Amino acid sequence: MNVLLLLDRASDSIFDSREAVELFEELENKGYRLQRPELHGSLVDMLEQRPEAAGAIIDWDTMGGELYASMEELNERLPFFALTSPAAAEELQPPDKDKLTLAFVPLPCRNAERAAAKIDRAVRRYFELLLPPFTRALFKFADAKKNTFCTTGHLLGSAFRHHAMGWAYYKFYGANIFRADTSVSVPDMGSLLEHTGVHKDAEELIARAFNADRSYIVTNGTSTANKIVGMYCVSQGDTVLIDRNCHKSMTHLLMMCDVVPIYLLPTRNAYGMIGGIPADEFTSEAIHYKLSQRDDATWPTYAVISDSTYDGLLYDCSWIKANLPVKKIHFDSAWSPYAPFNLIYENKFGMCGESTAGKTIFETQSAHKMLASFAQASYVHVKGEYDESVLDEVYMMHTTTSANYPIVASAETGAAMMTGNQGRRLLQNSIDRAMTFRRELARLHDESGSWFFKCWQPDDISETKCWPISRGERWHGFLGADEDFNYLDPIRVSVLTPGMDPTGQLMEEGIPAAVVSRYLNNHGVVTEKTGPYHMLFLFALGVDETRTKALLRALQDFKRDYDNDVPIREAMPDLFKLDPVFYMNMSLQQLTRGLHRVMRKRDLPKLMYHAYDDLPEMEYTPYQAFQKNLRGETHEVPLAELLGQVSADMILPYPPGVPLVMPGEKVTEKSAAVLDYLNMLCETGELFPGFDTEIHGAYRRKDGYYVKVLDEE
Ligand SMILES: *Cc1c(COP(=O)(O)O)cnc(C)c1O
Repeated sequence: MNVLLLLDRASDSIFDSREAVELFEELENKGYRLQRPELHGSLVDMLEQRPEAAGAIIDWDTMGGELYASMEELNERLPFFALTSPAAAEELQPPDKDKLTLAFVPLPCRNAERAAAKIDRAVRRYFELLLPPFTRALFKFADAKKNTFCTTGHLLGSAFRHHAMGWAYYKFYGANIFRADTSVSVPDMGSLLEHTGVHKDAEELIARAFNADRSYIVTNGTSTANKIVGMYCVSQGDTVLIDRNCHKSMTHLLMMCDVVPIYLLPTRNAYGMIGGIPADEFTSEAIHYKLSQRDDATWPTYAVISDSTYDGLLYDCSWIKANLPVKKIHFDSAWSPYAPFNLIYENKFGMCGESTAGKTIFETQSAHKMLASFAQASYVHVKGEYDESVLDEVYMMHTTTSANYPIVASAETGAAMMTGNQGRRLLQNSIDRAMTFRRELARLHDESGSWFFKCWQPDDISETKCWPISRGERWHGFLGADEDFNYLDPIRVSVLTPGMDPTGQLMEEGIPAAVVSRYLNNHGVVTEKTGPYHMLFLFALGVDETRTKALLRALQDFKRDYDNDVPIREAMPDLFKLDPVFYMNMSLQQLTRGLHRVMRKRDLPKLMYHAYDDLPEMEYTPYQAFQKNLRGETHEVPLAELLGQVSADMILPYPPGVPLVMPGEKVTEKSAAVLDYLNMLCETGELFPGFDTEIHGAYRRKDGYYVKVLDEE
C-alpha cells in the first residue's frame, strides 16, 4: 500500500478542515495510507527517513517556505501537493521544474474526488519514472510472468520449485531475482553486446552521470573492465607505462598481450601502505630514462594509474591528464566511483573536466565496491577520441553472451542513485559518518589515559576535505611527497594500532593489527584489509550510524579485553579452535607480545619498505614468461632458493596486495630484500597458527613454501 505523508507544523492546520478530511477519505478509498508524522527535525531529515513515501501533502501556510528553502536537498522527483486557499493558489508560481515536483491543490476544492484523482495520477507517474530505463523494463518484464521457453534454464525460477534442494535455494532469494534473471532472447530488452534498446539507454545514463563521452557496463568486474581498456590501447610490441601499484588484472593484461612494461614507481611508508606515484615520474625525462634502460622499448602508447590506491590516496588527475606525455591514459578507479558526486573530489577522478587535446582518457570503476550495485558490476568510461568499432569489438571479446540482467540493472541503478540531490546527500552522509568516526576515535584516544587506537590522518581534521599528503608533515610517513598532488580520501579510514610510529620505529610494546582484526571478526566486524599495524575500514554508502557505533564499540571491547588480559579461548574462539594445544594457556597480551616481538626481531616495517625499493630485473616480459609457463618450461624451487632465479608467476603478498615480483622477473642480490620480506611472512605464519599471510604465487607444501621458476635456457 502506498504511503502519503501529511506534513504540517501547526496544531490547527488546513489538514483539519472539513474539505481536507474529505480529500483524505477519497485518497484512502483509492488505497493510499495517510500518515501524519510529528515533525521535530528538518523536513529534509524527516523525508530521508522515509524513502519509501509515495508523495507528501503539505500545509502550504506553515510549510511552504521551508519546502522552497530545502529544494536543493530534496528528492526532486517526489511529488508534493500543497493544500492552500483557492485565492493563494492562483497567485503562486510553480517552482523550477527540475528542482521540485509541486502541485497546488486549492481548498475548499469543489470536487474532492477530482483532487484525489489528480494526486493519484501524479503518484503513479512518479513510480513509473522513478527507476532508470533498463531496470524499469526488467522489472516490468519480471512482473509480466511470461511463459518463456528460452534461457535461462531455470525458466524464471520454476525449475527450483520441483526439487527439495532447489526449493530451499529459491526460498532464500525470493521469486523476483529469478524472474529478472532472463536472457538476451527476450526481445523487449535490447542487447548489452550490441548496445541497443534499454541497454543503450542505461549506458547513456551512466555516461551522463560520470561526465564521460561514452560508458560501457561490464558484468565481470573491473578485472575485466581493465583488460578491455588495455587490449584496446595496445598492439603487439608496444611499450606501456604502468603503475607498479597495479591490480593483478593489469598484470594479467601484461601476460596476455605481447608488450613491454615500464613501471611508474609509487612511494611507500613504514605502515606498509603504498602511496602515490611522485609527480616527476610522469615527466618526459623520467620516461626517457626508463626507455634508455632497455633496448626493446619505445615511447609508451598507454599509461595506467590506480586512482585511488587501496589506502585511499587520490591524485590531482587534471595535472596528470595535462602533463603525462602519453596519448591513452587509463585511471583504474575501481575504488572511487563516487568521486564525481561530491566537490571534495573535484579534479581527482579520470572523467573530471573537459576532454584533453590529443589524448583519450579511460576510467574503470567497480560499481559494487563503493556504490549500491551487485558484485561484479563495473564501468568503462571514455573521454576523447576513440575508434568505436574497435572498442566495441574488444568489449565483446571479454563480455559474456549471457549477461546477468540483475547485475546490469544494478550497475544502472547504482549510477542513477547517485545523480540528483538524494545521491549527493547519500554520499555526503557517508563522508560525514566517516568524519564522525574519525573525530570520535580521536576523542577516545585523547581521553583513554593509557592507550587506544587512532586514525591515520592529519592532526587537524576540522575541515572535511581530501587532505593533501604534504611534504614535511609527519603523520603520513611518506618521504618526498609532492605539494598538492596526492590526497587522502576521508571515507577510507585506516585505524592504527599501537606499536609503531610513522617513521617505522617499533616500540617496546605493541599490538599487531592482525590480532585486533581477528578479534573484531570474532565479534562480527569485518575489516577490509589488515596491515602490520593498521586496519582499513571503508565507509561506503551502506554504512549507517548503527554500524559505525558497533565498530567503535568493538574497538573499545578489544581494549577492555586486552587490558584485562583475557584468555585467547574467550577472546577469539575461532583462533583457539585452530590449534587448541598451542593456544591453551595463552592470553591476549601474551599473543600480541609474541607477535610484536617477531616483528621487532625481524624489523618487519623495514623489510616491507625495502622489499619494494629495488625492483627485480625484468629478464622476460610478463608475456614471454607466460608463454614459457604455458609450454611447461618451469620447475618449482623452495622460496628460499628464489635468488638468482626467474619467477614464472607473479608473487603478490596480501597485504599490501600489490605484485612484488612480476612473471619473468629475476630476484637479484640488489633486490634480495624481496626474499627477506617473503621469508618473514612465512615465518610468522609458522610461529603463530592462524597468522599466515596470503601470498599469491607461493605454494605451501609440507616442508615450507615453494615458487615456480622458469627453466634456464
Ligand atoms: C578491485 C580492483 C579491481 C578489480 O575489480 P573487480 O570489480 O573486483 O573485478 C581492479 N583494480 C583495482 C585497483 C581494484 O582495487
